[in-house]
Amino acid sequence: MSRVYNFSAGPAVLPEEVLQAAADEMMDYKGTGMSVMEMSHRSKPFEEIITEAEADLRDLMEIPDNYKVLFLQGGASQQFAAIPMNLMKNGVADYIITGQWAKKAAQEAEKYGKVNRIASSEDKVFSYIPDCSDLPIDDNADYVYICENNTIYGTKYKELPNTKGKILVADVSSCFLSEPVDVTKYGVIYGGVQKNIGPAGTVIVIIREDLIRDDVFPGTPTMLKYKTQADAKSLYNTPPAYGIYICGKVFKWLKKMGGLEAMKERNEKKAKLLYDFLDQSQLFKGTVVKEDRSLMNVPFVTGNEELDAKFVKEAKAAGLENLKGHRTVGGMRASIYNAMPYEGVEALVAFMKKFEEENL
Ligand code: PMP
Repeated sequence: MSRVYNFSAGPAVLPEEVLQAAADEMMDYKGTGMSVMEMSHRSKPFEEIITEAEADLRDLMEIPDNYKVLFLQGGASQQFAAIPMNLMKNGVADYIITGQWAKKAAQEAEKYGKVNRIASSEDKVFSYIPDCSDLPIDDNADYVYICENNTIYGTKYKELPNTKGKILVADVSSCFLSEPVDVTKYGVIYGGVQKNIGPAGTVIVIIREDLIRDDVFPGTPTMLKYKTQADAKSLYNTPPAYGIYICGKVFKWLKKMGGLEAMKERNEKKAKLLYDFLDQSQLFKGTVVKEDRSLMNVPFVTGNEELDAKFVKEAKAAGLENLKGHRTVGGMRASIYNAMPYEGVEALVAFMKKFEEENL
């Protein structure tokens, strides 16, 4: 078996021991004689899987009892519509635009109500997080929306915006479970799991109970109504069962690793190694202002497109995969999610050093 160091932004690297455990259980899950993929979502073993997954996630994030945890389908992008459909009571929401994903979410929300773009970092190619201490929050805003970690640009909010009492909704797709969070500061936390938690096809929504309503936007599909999903405990229809099973295994892995505080420490150590190298390099340059750097996605460039392409190609040959930057920004990006081992970042930095010596 030969595994590469996979720096993909998502779907992304998963813990090897989770993959191995899933492989071991593939043909016969705990004596059922079938894999989790083949099993009824109404069966006892699956009921245990989803119940334990939720309990472990609640444990890890210290989710208060007045929040529901939903395991849904449709990816993070589907939530771009579900959020305004369910939450826009007054028909107004404020969006902070820190990258393509926030932009797309705002565009989608506009179909259902008035969207105010109250801050943006587009003037500098989303290389920073705008000052969110005193924003022009609309008195009628039903919520303030952020994308907490910007996968493409490599920025992360180090402090949550001052929403002046309005509900905060956050897309945490690319920083899910990477560090502790205070759930009580949010109305909704959601994310696709295919970066830090599991296989694509599952999205997790953590929502405060009082925001789950019956009087949603007229015509909201039954499946997109949080009430449908909350009342049915994510089993209104067939859920993404195998995805939930893998998420559950990753939650257990995270607990075993020491929980989110330990993950934060580990992630900071990995990111420091790479950022410290970038800060002294004569060839490579990070593209994000230091204060707003993400622990998860690290974009960098040489300043020369041909050299960037050469780097990506040679890195791949050296077993360092998926280092090409997002198609909209070019350059390179190393995604170093929870499951990326420290050794993977060490290998990347060693390779970058060598490349710099050869190409400067
Ligand atoms: N939000 C963020 C922060 C993302 O990084 C992505 C995917 N890269 C999305 C939303 C969209 O996710 P999905 O493909 O699951 O719809």
